[in-house]
Amino acid sequence: MMAAMSDDVAARIDELRREIRYHAYRYYVLDDPVISDAEYDALVHELERLEAAHPELVTPDSPTQRVGAPPSDQFRPVRHRRPLFSLDDISTFEELRAWEERITRILGRVPDAYACEPKIDGLAVVLTYEHGVFTLGATRGDGTVGEDITANLRTIKAIPLRLLTDEPPRLLEVRAEVYMPLAAFEELNRRQEEAGERLFVNPRNAAAGSVRQKDPTVTATRDLNIWCYQVGILEGGPELPTHSEAMEYIKRLGLRVNPENRVVDDLDGVKAYLTEAEKRRHERDYQTDGVVVKVDSLADQATLGFTARAPRWAVAYKFPPEEATTRLLDIKVNVGRTGAVTPYAVLEPVFVGGANISSATLHNEDEIRRKDLRIGDVVVVRRAGDVIPEVVAPVPSARTGEERIWHMPTTCPFCGSPIVRPDGEKVARCTGGYSCPSRLREWLFYFASRAGMDIDGMGYKTIDLLIREGLIRDPADIFFLRPEQLLGYEGWGEVSVGNLMRAIEAAKDRPVAQLLTALGIRHVGDSVARLLTRRYRSIDSLRAAPEEELAAIDGIGPVIARSIREWFDDPENQALLDKLAEAGVRLEDPVGETDVPADLLDGVTVVITGTLEGFTREEAEEAVVERGGRATGSVSKRTTALVVGENPGASKVRKAEELGIPMIDEGTFVRLLDEGPSVLPG
Ligand code: NAD
Repeated sequence: MMAAMSDDVAARIDELRREIRYHAYRYYVLDDPVISDAEYDALVHELERLEAAHPELVTPDSPTQRVGAPPSDQFRPVRHRRPLFSLDDISTFEELRAWEERITRILGRVPDAYACEPKIDGLAVVLTYEHGVFTLGATRGDGTVGEDITANLRTIKAIPLRLLTDEPPRLLEVRAEVYMPLAAFEELNRRQEEAGERLFVNPRNAAAGSVRQKDPTVTATRDLNIWCYQVGILEGGPELPTHSEAMEYIKRLGLRVNPENRVVDDLDGVKAYLTEAEKRRHERDYQTDGVVVKVDSLADQATLGFTARAPRWAVAYKFPPEEATTRLLDIKVNVGRTGAVTPYAVLEPVFVGGANISSATLHNEDEIRRKDLRIGDVVVVRRAGDVIPEVVAPVPSARTGEERIWHMPTTCPFCGSPIVRPDGEKVARCTGGYSCPSRLREWLFYFASRAGMDIDGMGYKTIDLLIREGLIRDPADIFFLRPEQLLGYEGWGEVSVGNLMRAIEAAKDRPVAQLLTALGIRHVGDSVARLLTRRYRSIDSLRAAPEEELAAIDGIGPVIARSIREWFDDPENQALLDKLAEAGVRLEDPVGETDVPADLLDGVTVVITGTLEGFTREEAEEAVVERGGRATGSVSKRTTALVVGENPGASKVRKAEELGIPMIDEGTFVRLLDEGPSVLPG
């Protein structure tokens, strides 16, 4: 029995080692991983657990006994003077406490201080300076032998070729992380796309690929940067008692040290740092995947020493992963309120960025071609912060040949009408008009939303019920609803029906601009609607306006004019307007109401951050400018107010807090546009 069990364990260990070796090779040598970091880490953890329980099965060539993967033969091999290490990773405060307990036992006391540093998600390198001159740059490789990439590293401007001192140490070896700033990564992928080349999956991958180019002139075009995080060897230099002092020292020598590094007294300080670092994870121009916590005293570090692959005096606290691989099971489409047909990915559910993801928008057909996504592919999915989940790229090396190329369907899956894609347009459209149930649903939702007629209680749930029961077929039907039609359905009692009826009644008297927005005419958002109602107070006079007259309005132009005309010329829409009139919906504004004084916001400067419901960024800024105000992109002393939408930029909010600039929500912003600066706080 016992023997059988340890046979199983031995087999599993063998299998894990083979898999880990393969993935380490793909990652470190080919820069082309086929599984996510989290999955890789899970394999390593499983192997570590099994080896810990069965020490007799540990072999010197196990991946747990070394770091990374052997170097490729592309570059000259370099034997490191001292082996480079990996870091043990943890992901909870409890593990952090357990780590402190372990080192406290060895030291006989709690360490005096910890150094906390962002863990840069880049490529580990070693820089060697002899008598102040940069003589060797190498990759980490398997920790013992790396690759000579000196020529490539010399192209990184932040790496000094000579140290900034007249008294250089005899020998200095610095460990560092090369990374690609996010802006450079996006720019690089834009260029790759233009050139028809494969896109890089993430900045780490792009950095690794760039540093390991055969031709250094290519590396030179890649805008790489570096953070130095450890002194490996120092000979003929000053005595340095702590890690943080060593960092100060190399900073003075001209090496780039992360200004976010901090020394804290105790574990509470570490926790505060971790919390803050995770919160601000997306504000930096480089990716981090955690925080490295190090015992600051170098004497304590020496006492603690190393295990086979990692120091005991440091741990990597890893943030929850934001990227994962999963399978693209299918590609389906949605039909939106304008009839736009949008493909989306059906994914094998995967936990990423703190949530379970089972679908993600794919935007349009071109986007799917550009990324070369095929049904059945293993794909990289990313969900960072509050950003909507994204299918980043396929993993082509995981293909079996069974994958299928997707084509836009020729007929709408909801109504069977043909789907067309006009020449030169990115977006395909369902031609079923409002008879398409998907389009109708989205349109009704938009019509009743805050951006439109603002009918409280008219969300998807209500709309789905109303459509299912055949109570509404177009937005005008909303205004003909009677209480008895709803009473008795689950969740619909006297009170809720009464509330909905009151909300509908109130919506009959919205300003005409709001109705125009709600109608969902292409290119007619809030600000265009306001422009129109300033010129035409009623739907009737707008309906009668010739295209040329519309196009001549400042801020409208031929495309919008065409779209408005087409909408009003469509008999289906004319019938809708007649029905709205019959229902008693306001189609004409009283004289004077829509005139906004052109100097209403004179002297007012606003900054907008995040997305607003009722405006695009341009519309919101336009609305401010139309009223004599200014809209700028960054918060300063001169800013009057910061308008905060969904997913605001944290740095703008922080700046406004620092400077004491009032922050207002969308509701207040709308009132600001209508009533002027008197509505602002303070
Ligand atoms: P690790 O996670 O153990 O961390 C050690 C490395 O952290 C150092 O070598 C250094 O490069 C880096 N680092 C960044 N900032 C630092 C700082 N301030 N101080 C000290 N070190 C800092 O490294 P590892 O064992 O090489 O693993 C690296 C990552 O690669 C892991 O996240 C792993 O998931 C991933 N990986 C993925 C695959 C895959 O197939 N997807 C394969 C292999 C490795």
